[in-house]
Amino acid sequence: MKILKIDHLGIAVNSIDAGRKFWEDILGLRFEGSETVAAQKVTTAFLPVGQSEVELLESTAPDGPVAKFIEKRGEGVQHVAFRVENIEEALAELKDKGVALIDQTPRIGAGGAKIAFLHPKATAGVLVELCEREGK
Ligand code: ZN
Repeated sequence: MKILKIDHLGIAVNSIDAGRKFWEDILGLRFEGSETVAAQKVTTAFLPVGQSEVELLESTAPDGPVAKFIEKRGEGVQHVAFRVENIEEALAELKDKGVALIDQTPRIGAGGAKIAFLHPKATAGVLVELCEREGK
């Protein structure tokens, strides 16, 4: 498996409108608009930082994964996403190594990326996302 970089940090917020202020107004990151991924009950907003991005996550339903995360742990970093060269290959390798996966096969995330989550029990509590997509 080839990991290319940290693609983004997923940060759970109660509200993107309220949550983006710090990142945009104080840190000066550029807000590039938001996108709702209905299947994951989440609206995402990306703010590029060099070669990586901050991804703000706002739940669209009380039973969505981001809502559940905030209920349990409050707002904050929810996942770390690594860009991989080939996500199918990476998942096959992880399965071979006995790593617990949330997604056995990739699904389509924000921006049309192919994404898959590893189970936090396999990663000392860090929700790890793999993603494969074109671009910077
Ligand atoms: Zn993500």
